[in-house]
Amino acid sequence: MADHLSVKYKVDGELKEIVRLPHGWREMLVEEVRSMAPTGIMDFDIHGIEIVRIAVSGARFPSGEKLVMKLLTEVTKNLGLVDLGIDEDDLKKIRESMDEPYGMVWISGPEGSGRTTTAYALCRWLSAKNKKVVSIEDPIEMPIAGIDQIQVNPLTTPSIEVGLQLALEQESDVIMVGEVKDLSVANLALKAATGGRRMITTLGDSDTGKTLNRLFEMGCEPFSVASSTDMVVSQRLVKKICPSCRASKLGDVAILLNSLPEELGEKLSGRTKIRVYYGKGCDVCKRTGFLGRVGIFEIMLLSEKLRNMINIKSDGESIRKEAVSLGMKTLAVDGWEKVRTGQTTVEELSRMFKD
Ligand SMILES: [Zn+2]
Repeated sequence: MADHLSVKYKVDGELKEIVRLPHGWREMLVEEVRSMAPTGIMDFDIHGIEIVRIAVSGARFPSGEKLVMKLLTEVTKNLGLVDLGIDEDDLKKIRESMDEPYGMVWISGPEGSGRTTTAYALCRWLSAKNKKVVSIEDPIEMPIAGIDQIQVNPLTTPSIEVGLQLALEQESDVIMVGEVKDLSVANLALKAATGGRRMITTLGDSDTGKTLNRLFEMGCEPFSVASSTDMVVSQRLVKKICPSCRASKLGDVAILLNSLPEELGEKLSGRTKIRVYYGKGCDVCKRTGFLGRVGIFEIMLLSEKLRNMINIKSDGESIRKEAVSLGMKTLAVDGWEKVRTGQTTVEELSRMFKD
């Protein structure tokens, strides 16, 4: 058993020990936190100015109990569509597509990829356009003004299906489903999208092609996916270079390509050196060289051709390739754009593809 209580912060994806406390404090502190968050969620009122929401989860290990407290408010605070890192062209297309009164948006990415932040930003944008927005979440990641959030819980809303039914009865224009994990939820959501609702859902897959394959594997009807989906988004988060200490250097293309996806070879062919950026470290970024994070996106807007391919249940990867030939930027290409323009580092991009 550890002889001290270690308190660590995870900032921008990196874990750092902040303070060591006497071992004797452990039990008292764990008890205190647990009693403050009996449901796993606690809200702190900061001087009546804002409420900070924290998710708490604990687990016992041979070395003792570990508590993880995730600051939910900070992650998604006030992020609008323009703050996420989506380029102007795609943003324009997203807005046009979301102006259609009904349809389905699938947002996919691993845990911590920022997919819920994107879903919230879309909801907020629609709510500002006077749409009635309802979300069904398990758990509610943070309270959002303008959205009626339904928390899945054993007493009132025992499942996402029940929540979805409730949202439909409430004449909602827009319904966000926290995470689609099985066929019955996917089918209900697809039905709602075909029936005149704007649906926004999140999934855990790594790119747009794999998201489509997942839907097929779950057993969703290709026809139903093709007719109701207007957008499949896949995303990741990378650390942003601190603007106060950003510097640049010439990188050797051959070496850079070793750690990056093959498809970027084409983008860099014919060049031996290229300018890349990094943060030198300063007081603003606490000597880390990074400040905040930015999203990397792959946004597939469904054209007639892509719908036809989904309809005949083509493989997700070939649909994705077709989308690329029609102008879709892949995660790798969007990531490279963010390296080239000094928003993130080559190391961050290669880490994103290793994770
Ligand atoms: Zn800095």
